[in-house]
Amino acid sequence: MPHVRLTDLNAPGGIGANCLLLQLGKANIVIDAGLHPKMAGYEALPRLERIRDLPIDLIIVTHCHLDHLGALPVLARDHPDTPIILSRDSQYLYKRLLQNSCQVMERQRAEGLAGAVPLYGFADITQCARQVVPVVPGNSRLFETASGERFSFTLFPSGHIPGAVGLLLEYRQRRIFHTGDVSFTDTPMLDGARFPPGKVDTLILETTRGTTERGPGTNRESESRRLLQYLRRTLKGGGSVLIPVFALGRMQELLTTLRHASAGGMLPDCPVYVSGLGLDLLNGFERIAKDNRALRVRRRFLRELGARKLPQGHHPGSEGPAIYLLSSGMLIENTPSYKAAAALLRTRENTICFVGYCDPDTPGGKLLAAEPESTFLFEARDQHVPVRAAIERFDLSSHADREELRDFALACEPRVVVLSHGDPEARAWFRSELEEPLGKGFVLDPPPLKTVEV
Ligand SMILES: [Zn+2]
Ligand SMILES: [Zn+2]
Repeated sequence: MPHVRLTDLNAPGGIGANCLLLQLGKANIVIDAGLHPKMAGYEALPRLERIRDLPIDLIIVTHCHLDHLGALPVLARDHPDTPIILSRDSQYLYKRLLQNSCQVMERQRAEGLAGAVPLYGFADITQCARQVVPVVPGNSRLFETASGERFSFTLFPSGHIPGAVGLLLEYRQRRIFHTGDVSFTDTPMLDGARFPPGKVDTLILETTRGTTERGPGTNRESESRRLLQYLRRTLKGGGSVLIPVFALGRMQELLTTLRHASAGGMLPDCPVYVSGLGLDLLNGFERIAKDNRALRVRRRFLRELGARKLPQGHHPGSEGPAIYLLSSGMLIENTPSYKAAAALLRTRENTICFVGYCDPDTPGGKLLAAEPESTFLFEARDQHVPVRAAIERFDLSSHADREELRDFALACEPRVVVLSHGDPEARAWFRSELEEPLGKGFVLDPPPLKTVEV
């Protein structure tokens, strides 16, 4: 059988600086080049020095979250002649995300964060753009390397965020499918994954929610209804609501939900404030929606909802009931959501609604663990605030439930499953679920930096 080898270049393992070297015979393909969200400077990079002297034939980026995209300018600088494959939709998003990443790195250095250095600048993003080749999902492309290796690749929408794709590689009778980050559920904003039918030889499977069990009888839709109930109750009681959101995907999804609720008379009239990056990305979404009917958010939703950009110097909660739809999703220090939480937490009538994953080490994760009536320290502001607002959590994840992913994996009838994109405990759940039907030795969890043959 021809050699197919994998090397995970994300040194700490788990979910972090996603970057996978896939070798099909003599062809070298890099899938994703992310930055580790909990690290700064060189530490946050995948181990790109391992492949610096290797001729890379193709770089493929599955989607524009920074844990998949954030190191791309560094990789592109090392391999300036290698084509970078993005989905047609991602081409309208990646530059804005990388520019924001530059600004964050500059700010971290200015704040004196340990190890923080700008890893790239705007000129590097321009260089990336020269290498980018946008590809329409569903169309298969044949590729021949300088070393004479031939394979084809096809992108498929993965439903995780706009532009996100899974990846099918066909190489000498072998079908290798990489799910990327995936959601199978249609939401009001975006269709779920549309993956190819048929058997797969090697399945590279994301495992993010391996330790997360959904509450009995609940689903994404019921969670969305519950969120709207909390919003109505809080606003009618004279309080304000903060929803911390990721700027890419979640912000626009919530905007869509609120707009539909408002149009249906299910939301009391009140000001809605949103933060800047999410608004900029909405312009990209508007462009995407012109060619892609799977995406159903429009810039006019802002006007229809009466939503506007959070003004400089605005003090959340000072003007009566309002909804704050602000990034970041995990209340990272000094972001708009962090500042708004510091202002809203002390008042009993307010509610803070978390709608996505919060790492336990982030301020969002710590606030979720805080006892009512205790005091919460906003470290970056050196501010102690009593915990009086209600803090609620809603499961609106943009990752598939673990059972859905397991069932998808089994339906592919793979010879081998390679576990990726999950913490060790999450991978362990998938291993135990898949090993019995597939057989021991056919579920691989390759250690970081170790090359394995599949
Ligand atoms: Zn993602
Ligand atoms: Zn991810």
